[in-house]
Amino acid sequence: VISQVSINEWLKEIAVVMRQNKDYLSQLDAAIGDADHGINMDRGFQKVLIKTETFADQDIGAMLKNTGMTLISSVGGASGPLYGKFFMQMGMALMGKMELNLEDLSTGISKGLDGVKGIGKASVGDKTMVDVWTPVVESLSESVNQKDTLEIASDKMVIAADKGLKSTINMIARKGRASYLGERSIGHQDPGATSSCFIVNILQGIIV
Ligand code: ADP
Ligand code: MG
Ligand code: MG
Repeated sequence: VISQVSINEWLKEIAVVMRQNKDYLSQLDAAIGDADHGINMDRGFQKVLIKTETFADQDIGAMLKNTGMTLISSVGGASGPLYGKFFMQMGMALMGKMELNLEDLSTGISKGLDGVKGIGKASVGDKTMVDVWTPVVESLSESVNQKDTLEIASDKMVIAADKGLKSTINMIARKGRASYLGERSIGHQDPGATSSCFIVNILQGIIV
């Protein structure tokens, strides 16, 4: 199972990795957007990092919901409300839980993706973070059906996320700022899909 402490570690590690990759994420955004994705993610998760100090006694659902609300209130770009909704919906699905099994994780991430799609209206193929979270949700739900261990499920989840990320390179952006470029967005990896893939990789790190 994944403990409450591990989820807290996940959130803290996301803050570390967003800081480390701040310039990289903004460079990706410079090619097809406004060069601020790294700044947005770093700002939001530094605020989350401060919040994690108050998370010790909270259940997993409450921590994730607080994370989402913190992102919404601290990030101005599109990614703030989108990631905010992701963590809020994931948290709402996991209220009261002090540990997660594979089924909980699968449900939580699936609800998070529903939240992103609910406000962003993006589908697979639109060159957004949805192109990472959709294969992750599919992979996890397949793992639940196959009764995979959490470790095996998390390995498969990362492979699915990487594949989804790479698939954004050749897509035409149909949502967000990158969509203003039309065909000129082809050949560039989506910044939000890239930060999402980091988040999935860090999740695997706290499971193994
Ligand atoms: P902004 O575009 O406002 O500057 P960011 O640069 O922080 O915000 O985030 C851009 C990322 O947000 C994109 O790379 C994409 O993955 C994601 N994104 C933008 N619009 C949508 C949408 N409608 N649905 C899902 N994801 C989106
Ligand atoms: Mg941007
Ligand atoms: Mg912006």
